[in-house]
Amino acid sequence: MTCRLLIVGLILGCIPLCSSGTWGFFAHKEINKHAIFLLPEGLFPFYKHNLEALLKLSVLPDQRRYVIEGEDIRHYIDLDQYPEIAQSYPACLYVSKDSTQGIAPWNISDMCHKLTWAFREKKYELIIKYSAELGHYLSDIHVPLHTTSNYNGQLTKQTGIHGLWESRLPELFLEEYDLFLPQAYYVNDIDSLAWNTIIESHQCLDSVFQLEKEATKEIGEHRKYGFYNRNGINTHGYSKKYAAQYHQLLQGQVSRRLRCAVQCISSLWYTCWVNAGSPSLTPLVIHPASTLEALMDSVSFEVGRQHEH
Ligand SMILES: [Zn+2]
Repeated sequence: MTCRLLIVGLILGCIPLCSSGTWGFFAHKEINKHAIFLLPEGLFPFYKHNLEALLKLSVLPDQRRYVIEGEDIRHYIDLDQYPEIAQSYPACLYVSKDSTQGIAPWNISDMCHKLTWAFREKKYELIIKYSAELGHYLSDIHVPLHTTSNYNGQLTKQTGIHGLWESRLPELFLEEYDLFLPQAYYVNDIDSLAWNTIIESHQCLDSVFQLEKEATKEIGEHRKYGFYNRNGINTHGYSKKYAAQYHQLLQGQVSRRLRCAVQCISSLWYTCWVNAGSPSLTPLVIHPASTLEALMDSVSFEVGRQHEH
């Protein structure tokens, strides 16, 4: 387990040892859920029918991060390590894959290939699994802190900012966000979409860090942290007052990235289906409960088996 894994895992509270483990998972599930409702007629019934599995599996990649080697690097890319060439999409094409800096954009492309294959072969369970996982990875690249080596503010004395931005703020304010969006659209260039999303996320970082400091100044260090009730558990962390101040200073940034993630996920699910020849999924709309059971069993097996090694 790398330091990065351990630190973010602790912030998100999603290391498997941590009991209920919904910390940080809330937004992933909500984003996948809203993406389903943007799908066109040929896909919507299938995804709606398997909604429960799609939500459960949407957090699997984070659960896997702590037990499967090579998983962690699929969730991020440290774009600040490529200052000369990584500021625009065409320049990104010259970036070579370096696993020490994260491989998020290449992983998106791999996941789209897998999902397209699953559609083409009509592999019912794998369509659900890959859709859920692609949704997870796409959500991650919409988070500015997934695009920098200062991923938790540890280099700027802002430790904890990762969980604040991607977990605490959505949990507090998602209900206020307008997540009604236009229908999914066909994506001509998946690599371009992935890289441009990452660049946009990266461009948000200045305000992510700067406004955290400004909110601290306005609220005061002594009121920045406190105890609050989280899912019935008394938790110590950023106070609601501080979180609200930071959220206000960000002027809708979290909401904009979330909206963008929902639209992007829905559109890439749709694109993979079209690229597979738009197969009819009607015969596959059967037995969601038993399928979910089978999927969860295979997931436990996958994680458990790796854990033994
Ligand atoms: Zn992740």
